[in-house]
Amino acid sequence: MSALTDLSLADALTGLAAKDFSARELATAHVEAVAAASTLNAFVVETPERALADAEASDARRARGEALPLDGIPLAIKDLFCTKGIRTTAASRILGDFTPTYESTVTSQLWRDGAVMLGKLNLDEFAMGSSNETSAFGPVKNPWRRTGDTAVLVPGGSSGGSAAAVAARLCLGATGTDTGGSIRQPAAFTGIVGIKPTYGRCSRWGIVAFASSLDQAGPMTRTVTDAALMLRSMAGHDPKDSTSANRAVPDYTKALTGDVRGLKIGIPKEYRIEGVPAEIGRLWEQGIEWLKAAGAEIREISLPHTSQSLPTYYIVAPAEASSNLARYDGVRFGARQPGRTLPEMYEKTRGAGFGREVRRRILIGTYVLSAGYYDAYYLKAQKVRSLIARDFTEAYKEVDAILAPATPSAAFAAGEKSADPLAMYLNDVFTVTANLAGLPALAVPAGLNSQGLPLGLQVIGRAFDEETVLRIGHVIEKAAAFTARPDNWWRV
Ligand code: GLN
Repeated sequence: MSALTDLSLADALTGLAAKDFSARELATAHVEAVAAASTLNAFVVETPERALADAEASDARRARGEALPLDGIPLAIKDLFCTKGIRTTAASRILGDFTPTYESTVTSQLWRDGAVMLGKLNLDEFAMGSSNETSAFGPVKNPWRRTGDTAVLVPGGSSGGSAAAVAARLCLGATGTDTGGSIRQPAAFTGIVGIKPTYGRCSRWGIVAFASSLDQAGPMTRTVTDAALMLRSMAGHDPKDSTSANRAVPDYTKALTGDVRGLKIGIPKEYRIEGVPAEIGRLWEQGIEWLKAAGAEIREISLPHTSQSLPTYYIVAPAEASSNLARYDGVRFGARQPGRTLPEMYEKTRGAGFGREVRRRILIGTYVLSAGYYDAYYLKAQKVRSLIARDFTEAYKEVDAILAPATPSAAFAAGEKSADPLAMYLNDVFTVTANLAGLPALAVPAGLNSQGLPLGLQVIGRAFDEETVLRIGHVIEKAAAFTARPDNWWRV
């Protein structure tokens, strides 16, 4: 049955419609692939019975001629989305056996459209990280390895389980969330497609909050068309999230015309960063050539506040995180650890429940929000954030979209950066800007590095113009003709 797991989401829909196979067969193939890939540690909860039940319901709908947009498509869900009746952990011990009595809006829309639930995916604890090494459930392994080398590589983070599962063909698509790069960086590290939509495009309701002004959900898939299909179901206005945008959701696949003639693509000169390996620069040049050859117009642009983005992000994100995570106190939320006094109970609960990286973020966040430092750090970061957003507004007077690398390197080895938070934070240098400015941004696999590892390019668009972003990504995808895939070393 391995052929069924090799299909793209779009081809699986075609095959289901043509009755080449049933949703049950498709689900069974994926359930088996998931069970055989436990070495990757991509899943924290597998839901095979639910998958088969969903698939049978899907087959019945199709037989009645009532097939839905994603009917019968096996998907897996980052364990940051609340799923009714299925344990939801954010990969943190503090959530204990929390089993939501409600479903996040984004996942409910996927089920509304007929998708099949395979299980919950590993991630960095509370989505804080770039390597999936901060998870309370242990690290996720990247299905890719360097040529001739069996060293374990990280899949990126925080949506590392999502990226590994999609790349290893354990599901046809996965949900991710992106606060500073957590969809795009792992997508680039595993040779898949990921899009962070415009802030407000997908509802945040029912997603465990990290930094509420930056968090956005998005799809992770093997093709741009698949991302377009999944995003259509995930996006849309939700009265339960006051920051969700009240705008119609287009059929994103219609934007994939293959035609970028006359589009103006900006190349931000500040993204040529010292110390970034030459192969990243070459890939970027290659992307420029592909778009030129397809008839796009390339323009150098300036985003002058780029160098301030990482410091700004690493003030704003921890500040919001420290506030969001205050609710895990063993009273309102969180697995309680007993103490003799109330303060001792709080301390024990939070001390035992949060891992090192989460504690670091809470400390930084509390510090930058504290009286005396608020103006110097948090307020200043908010001002710089406005300047970063303004850089993009200015640029979009000249260009329709921006092309940049997705990450400053290919996937690195497990343990290589986990002792050095600053080195880890540098992973986000090309991605945090889109979050700070609230813009849609896509990572698309564009080639392999000298060690046989995937590298991604990034397309950043105007607010609510996911269509142009996807259209350009689709053209890059075609030009790159990225067909490489990891071999099945993990399969038991
Ligand atoms: N790596 C970034 C961080 O650790 C981004 C994480 C994310 O986007 N969720 O904050």
